[in-house]
Amino acid sequence: MPPDGGDGFPPPQGPCYVETPTVITNNVKDPCLKTALNVMIDKNLTGRIASIINDVFNSSDKVNITFQEFNDPNAKPAKSEIPTTNNGVFNETISLNLAQIKDASMEFKTIISVHEILHAYMNYNNQYFMQQFQQHKEIAKKYVDDIRGFVQQIYPSMDTDAANAIILNGIADVYPKGIKDDRYIDLLKSYGVTDALGNYELERAGVTGSSCPK
Ligand SMILES: [Zn+2]
Repeated sequence: MPPDGGDGFPPPQGPCYVETPTVITNNVKDPCLKTALNVMIDKNLTGRIASIINDVFNSSDKVNITFQEFNDPNAKPAKSEIPTTNNGVFNETISLNLAQIKDASMEFKTIISVHEILHAYMNYNNQYFMQQFQQHKEIAKKYVDDIRGFVQQIYPSMDTDAANAIILNGIADVYPKGIKDDRYIDLLKSYGVTDALGNYELERAGVTGSSCPK
């Protein structure tokens, strides 16, 4: 059967015709966080992360991400729900924790969101589905430079050390002893990061980095 309107048939009309919105839905209410998300899902960005966002999530109504916010001082900055697939449509909901990131720099908000998008991307590709630890290993191996390049493309003043610190702090569980593991410390050193947690916290508090555009 041809798709609607694809073979000389007029597209369906009337109240029953509901256009499916593509495809990254920004349901965040906090204005600053909402802006950070809208800027990063802009279709004019380039590079590997932008390709994942645009070519995978922003171009097909079969692959959807919804961003929403929540508020829990005892929870992590972000969480991804278990994705669902209905009628061949993949849906992932990413929840961003205002209690942790409301005051954070724009760069911090961006990096946290990209991190969750990469989880969604790997889940979609059935790559270590919902295995956070294994997916963090993949991020450590493949995506650190891409994430930093992406955020620096949007925010050219983003400090390289701070970017690496935020990115690497988000995957500190790649080794069993976490931030105290010698191999993790070596990973930090390989990116020239000496104080991952300090830089991370300064950006999370919004002391450093770009503040919300007025
Ligand atoms: Zn993660």
